Amino acid sequence: MDIPRIFNISESAHRIHNPFTPDNYATLGTVLRMEPGTHVLDFGSGSGEMLCTWARDHGITGVGIDMSQLFSEQAKLRAEELGVADRVNFIHNDATGYVANEKCDVAACVGATWIGGGVAGTIELLNKSLKPGGILLIGEPYWRQLPPTEEVARECGATSIADFLTLTQLVASFDESGYDIVEMVLADQEGWDRYIAATWLTLRRWLEANPDDDFAQEARAQLTISPKRHVTYTREYLGWGVFALMAR
Ligand code: SAH
Repeated sequence: MDIPRIFNISESAHRIHNPFTPDNYATLGTVLRMEPGTHVLDFGSGSGEMLCTWARDHGITGVGIDMSQLFSEQAKLRAEELGVADRVNFIHNDATGYVANEKCDVAACVGATWIGGGVAGTIELLNKSLKPGGILLIGEPYWRQLPPTEEVARECGATSIADFLTLTQLVASFDESGYDIVEMVLADQEGWDRYIAATWLTLRRWLEANPDDDFAQEARAQLTISPKRHVTYTREYLGWGVFALMAR
């Protein structure tokens, strides 16, 4: 069980697998005002940077579930490096349908809402592991500018314009689903650069080390197209943020 190989190659050197910077995660951890011992569940925890740094900085405990074997291993190493391995646990698994035995204070899905079949389904899934009165964290793209054509949406990595909402629509949708938005932290274009541009040197180095790999052609194609696609489309059209929600 694993995610498509291109991500395990192109994002192998990433600590954060989305347009959030370390500062964005630090801000989010602070504004949530978590007490030591707050228990956080993270669906699609990647290389564990959110849980590990929050365990170090705020004394939280956490469980992360991620389908990438590589990222899950990196998360465990990061926990040891930051001295929080006794407080956070990373499980390599598919989080689809996962319900935790121990209910949490904060249930997060930061950049992986396909796990619940979209934002609404992910909220429903996270709620099954959340204590009453707890906080949900949803990390999701939105359109900074609405793409003029479906082709432009596809160049941004979406399957269609309908995949994402504008920020106004996304915020309204949480309200309409019966949630108070109690905090939000938004990424910016430089955050997108850190996420996407950081794949380029990784891909280049991987290609130099693995010229005869079956995957070399795909990695080469990605390295050639990604910079142009990034500056022309993703960076301009896509926004990204984490929204903290509490049920009314
Ligand atoms: N929240 C992390 C990672 C976001 S990227 C961070 O902030 O860095 C999306 C993550 O979802 C990847 O790590 C990927 O391996 C994971 N993923 C994809 N499908 C999944 C699934 N079905 N179950 C669990 N994790 C999944």
